[in-house]
Amino acid sequence: MITTMFARTIHRRFSFHHSSISLSNSLRGNNSHSPTNLLRREMSMETERIVDRLKSSGLLQTKGLIGGKWTDAYDGKTIEVNNPASGDVIASVACMGERETKDAISSAYDAFSHWSKLTANDRSSRLRNWYNLLLQHKEELGQLITLEQGKPLKEAIGEVGYGASFIEFFAEEAKRIYGDIIPSTLSDRRLFVLKQPVGVVAAITPWNFPLAMIARKVGPALACGCTVVIKPSELTPLTALAAAELALQSGIPPGVLNVVMGDAIKIGTALTESPQVRKITFTGSTAVGKKLMAGAADTVKKVSLELGGNAPCIVFDDADLEVAIKGSLATKFRNSGQTCVCANRILVQEGIYEKFTKAFSDAVQNLKVGNGLSEGVSQGPLINEAAVKKVESFVEDAVSKGAKLLLGGKRHSLGMSFYEPTVIGDVKNEMLIAQQEVFGPVAPVLRFKTEEEAIQIANDTNAGLAAYIFTNSIKRSWRVSEALEYGIVGVNEGLVSTEVAPFGGFKQSGLGREGSKYGMDDYLEIKYICMGNMG
Ligand code: ADP
Repeated sequence: MITTMFARTIHRRFSFHHSSISLSNSLRGNNSHSPTNLLRREMSMETERIVDRLKSSGLLQTKGLIGGKWTDAYDGKTIEVNNPASGDVIASVACMGERETKDAISSAYDAFSHWSKLTANDRSSRLRNWYNLLLQHKEELGQLITLEQGKPLKEAIGEVGYGASFIEFFAEEAKRIYGDIIPSTLSDRRLFVLKQPVGVVAAITPWNFPLAMIARKVGPALACGCTVVIKPSELTPLTALAAAELALQSGIPPGVLNVVMGDAIKIGTALTESPQVRKITFTGSTAVGKKLMAGAADTVKKVSLELGGNAPCIVFDDADLEVAIKGSLATKFRNSGQTCVCANRILVQEGIYEKFTKAFSDAVQNLKVGNGLSEGVSQGPLINEAAVKKVESFVEDAVSKGAKLLLGGKRHSLGMSFYEPTVIGDVKNEMLIAQQEVFGPVAPVLRFKTEEEAIQIANDTNAGLAAYIFTNSIKRSWRVSEALEYGIVGVNEGLVSTEVAPFGGFKQSGLGREGSKYGMDDYLEIKYICMGNMG
């Protein structure tokens, strides 16, 4: 995920421009009857309706959360949050920086002594309360995700269920943080291993899963007895704040969970420099992840990173075509292609290439693009203008180097940051679109001859998060799965993420794992206790 601060600034200006138009149109009752204006007006009214409902349910929080208190930025600055489908301003949230972050760290530090000493059962039941509240409010949270992120409502509600499942899973795991007794080498000694929480955790999260990326980090952190300072993306802070409100309601004590947002660099620096923060967990771009890792070196913090991917999706001649189409479609076009595990290169063996590209393009053509709140839409807008520009430049590069546009290939007529679901054939691995994450609804298809060639192309990247293979051969499934330098392999399956399995990457895709029993390790210190004079 490559979105620079510069790109974000462009987005805000762009969105603000549109929002002033659409909102003022709706307020003034602009009587222009052009279909675009009518659509914009409807969307604005819909945004307002949802925002009003969220306000009355207390879930539309706009301040940061420090020590259990909703807090404005100390200098009063705010930052606008936009609906990428319409450009409407949904809300203005506190734009915080170094001072607020330092206070949030102090609150988390103070709360640690109490929270870490609660029994595992006690922490577990509060986490379970939070899980129940998230599910009780899944419709509203889903609407909030669609409003600020753009994904279709069904997918957004699905994200709430997925995110909540991490809280439930880690509520259960809280009770299973076992130590060890090691047989001693000397008869008068007893050797024990204890697992203890690392302390204050900084969790920096992206915009593509505004709830789930937080739940995957905060669930295990709190289960282990850590306290947290969350910094959500400035593009999607409202979901994080709503989840924090529900955490307070669930009995998670003040200071255990804090949220600051605003100036990403100032907040990031305060978090990395503080000796009180013992761990940074981050999901986002590889570039920012490397900076945080370097910043954490000075205080030797633990670091977990979920960074960019460049997922190959390999379709062999012996694949079940229907299964391969369904799986490739799901992994490529989920969230309009904006996930780190989205197929970034679809490698198709030459014997099935023509059949596959034809059937795949037909399936892609049926995907409905539109506002995520509208019925039947499966492709929402991209997060912002910079994201569309990036997709455009990648497509242009591929086509100029000989790739063939099979479907789409341009901005959608809906305008804003909507892009047509696109399929490009005859892509080569050297092209930009195969080297970097496109993070949009564009499927580049590459042709290969042999299994060895497919593995070589698939591994020819610095990334190593997810890979997919489609084949009916059991032997090949094992052979290729073992040869792929990736942390996650889907065999005849495009949707692989679940709270019970470890999620994480090889190579420059990251460090550590999230979800499953392995997801606890990153939040725990191992303490060895040697007891002498025991004979
Ligand atoms: P994306 O392309 O998804 O925006 P980023 O890595 O830029 O990926 O952003 C992921 C998260 O990292 C966001 O919460 C963002 O605000 C934050 N972030 C960006 N730059 C920095 C930085 N220098 N220090 C700390 N956090 C940062």
